[in-house]
Amino acid sequence: MKINPRSMYAYVYALLENVTPLHTDCGEKCGGRCCADSDEGTGMYLYPAESCMYEARPDWAKIEKSGFFYGDKEALILSCPGRCDRHLRPLACRIFPLVPYKKAGERMKIIYDPRAASMCPLTPKELTDDFVEAVHAAMRIVSKTREGRAFIEAQSVLIDEYVRMHL
Ligand code: SF4
Ligand code: SF4
Repeated sequence: MKINPRSMYAYVYALLENVTPLHTDCGEKCGGRCCADSDEGTGMYLYPAESCMYEARPDWAKIEKSGFFYGDKEALILSCPGRCDRHLRPLACRIFPLVPYKKAGERMKIIYDPRAASMCPLTPKELTDDFVEAVHAAMRIVSKTREGRAFIEAQSVLIDEYVRMHL
């Protein structure tokens, strides 16, 4: 399906704008580790064409090639200094600690990201229903595009490798 990326990400961002993993500020549980740790040279993969949301090049966002390929496309990675404009935070941050997971030929699932477990104290059971439902809705939209599905499948391979190596 051909979808205008800017319209799609504006819609998806809006779905996830006001929902959070808990009804209270989960950052109080951990000192906001997922943002604080992003200041240490890590970053968030941008979903396919998500870079269109950063054409104004906000000063907190550094966007580079990542070395992670889905099909013949190289994903971009966004790093930040541990702060951002909340209304422009990337999709990966909006859905954390959840992530889409899909093997070729199978349906997409939303799972608790095993890579989050070392920093995030939240458990799947305590995530609010509205957050989980919004993540499902958002990722269903992204997965309607061929590139979105390719990205999610390639990222799922990375997740499998992480589990093999660390868990
Ligand atoms: S690491 Fe988990 S609990 Fe802490 S701020 Fe991030 S999502 Fe919330
Ligand atoms: S972009 Fe924003 S939400 Fe994402 S890690 Fe950086 S400060 Fe946190």
